[in-house]
Amino acid sequence: MKNIKMFDAAYMRMTLWYIAIIMVISLLFSVWVYNQARHELLFGLNRVIDVKPFVNGANFGTVVDERLHDSQQRLIGNLILFNTVVLIAGAAASYWLARRTMRPIEEAVDAQERFTADASHELRTPLAAMKSEIEVGLRDKKITKDEAVTLLKSNLEEVDRLGNLAEGLLTLTQSDNLQKRPVALEDIAGKVAKRLQPLADARKIGLEKELVPMRVTGDEQALDKIVSILLDNAIKYSLEGKTIKLRIYRNDGYGVVEVQDEGVGIKASELPHIFDRFYRADSSRSKVHVAGHGLGLSIAQKLAENLDGKVTATSTPGKGSTFVVRIPIATT
Ligand code: ADP
Repeated sequence: MKNIKMFDAAYMRMTLWYIAIIMVISLLFSVWVYNQARHELLFGLNRVIDVKPFVNGANFGTVVDERLHDSQQRLIGNLILFNTVVLIAGAAASYWLARRTMRPIEEAVDAQERFTADASHELRTPLAAMKSEIEVGLRDKKITKDEAVTLLKSNLEEVDRLGNLAEGLLTLTQSDNLQKRPVALEDIAGKVAKRLQPLADARKIGLEKELVPMRVTGDEQALDKIVSILLDNAIKYSLEGKTIKLRIYRNDGYGVVEVQDEGVGIKASELPHIFDRFYRADSSRSKVHVAGHGLGLSIAQKLAENLDGKVTATSTPGKGSTFVVRIPIATT
């Protein structure tokens, strides 16, 4: 990855700074120890000289000077050894600490890069489709009005796809500024159901509602978005003639919205990934050929988390899925 070089340089810089700090402390400590020890030694020896100036004719001061010199040499040797050990151990510890400090930043940068790459890929596909259609249309000198209309309609579909993608990306980045206040969950879910009823009707899918009054602490727009995403998915991934159940109930201090469908379901191996950005389960895609960018559930999860709630899913392939949103009950 291209980031590796940038992070290697940062590791090195950070390691060098840590080593520099450790070594400054270690050297200051060594100077202090040296001065202290020298002072103690001189003080001790001077007292001996005062008492015993001559030993066996030899000047005791000369002997003491030699001893002092030896002791100083030994002390310096020990301090050099100590600082070398500190340098080696400090370098290893500094490198380890630098990696630890930088890891979350590195992960965030990686995630950002992946996100940008995925978003660009999602943008490129409809743009490439539009470009090639327009080029073919322009090259065809005898294009009829009907053909031109078909081409424009197809391009309009792609423009809609791009519009949805842009809106999804914007919702993801703006999902942190939510206005939390007591709201009626049943009203929000009812409104979403009414809005999406024509979509269900068009696919002959029944929509059963069980909406009891439930006041939760949430943001009306965010909750509308979450329920819309789940209900829209339930309709998209259902087969014709099946039924979707939309329920509200209370559980453990949370208001719960449950969307249960009898659709294609999700494989156990794919279930842990469906909340990842841009993830689309292969099985459901190939069976029902549904358009989408794989952003819906990641948006729903992020919004729910920002409301101190959570979205969870259970599913049996071929039988259907149940998505559950839990939002804290309003206390006022
Ligand atoms: P999109 O629907 O645009 O692909 P989502 O993030 O909403 O993106 O969903 C991610 C994937 O999870 C979908 O591609 C689909 O495979 C799977 N999925 C979501 N909801 C359902 C559902 N109700 N039934 C079956 N599969 C689902």
